[in-house]
Amino acid sequence: METVETAGSAPAAVIVAIDGPSGTGKSSTSKAVAAQLGLSYLDTGAQYRAITWWMVHNGIELSDPTAIAAVAGKPEIVSGTDPLSPTITVDGTDVAGPIRTTEVTSKVSAVSAVPEVRARITELQRTIAASAEKGIVVEGRDIGTTVLPDADLKIFLTASPEARAARRSGELKGADVAATREALIKRDAADSSRKTSPLAKAGDAVEVDTTELTLQQVIECVVTLVEEKRAGK
Ligand code: C5P
Repeated sequence: METVETAGSAPAAVIVAIDGPSGTGKSSTSKAVAAQLGLSYLDTGAQYRAITWWMVHNGIELSDPTAIAAVAGKPEIVSGTDPLSPTITVDGTDVAGPIRTTEVTSKVSAVSAVPEVRARITELQRTIAASAEKGIVVEGRDIGTTVLPDADLKIFLTASPEARAARRSGELKGADVAATREALIKRDAADSSRKTSPLAKAGDAVEVDTTELTLQQVIECVVTLVEEKRAGK
């Protein structure tokens, strides 16, 4: 790997924000780019899933935003940022598996729409990004717009609903594509229409449509963009 350095000093930490709806290849791309460039990696969706898992586990009434807001500060969420083995714990419990269940997936948008939840998780994300010595790739929905508006590079990944549903149902090992497509569209609509920092493309983000691209092509495209940024192009 070649990076541009000023004489005798390490390259400056680079902050890369990768946003977009689900099924666009965000996680696979972000992890691979971070690993290839020696950067840390943060999956912010996992953090929203983790707080949702804790709420479900503790019987919080998720149709009541006030009930969610009242306990938003309680769980301790810790993210491990090694792109080769990212981790997520809640109050010391490994929740990497449980946060991917259909139940959590169907409830996460309601929890992530609550401003107190977003404030808490956003603060956590900024702290993690600021402490990443070599830089970090942060993936989510509002990273370029709200969490890290000064990121060095902002990418917004898109893909057709068909491509996204096909990828997601492949990941879920044989899940029904039509049902997956419907669930994805519903979640995108909720995430895009919420009042507090909705899913949105930042004005200065580079949009990459991944519909016709292989994962390897998307990774190469983003790595090139990061390297160009580092070289000051
Ligand atoms: O990326 P993933 O599908 O795991 O995200 C799960 C959910 O977390 C999203 O549907 C959204 O409700 C929420 N989220 C968010 N802001 C982010 C990342 C995820 O609201 N930055």
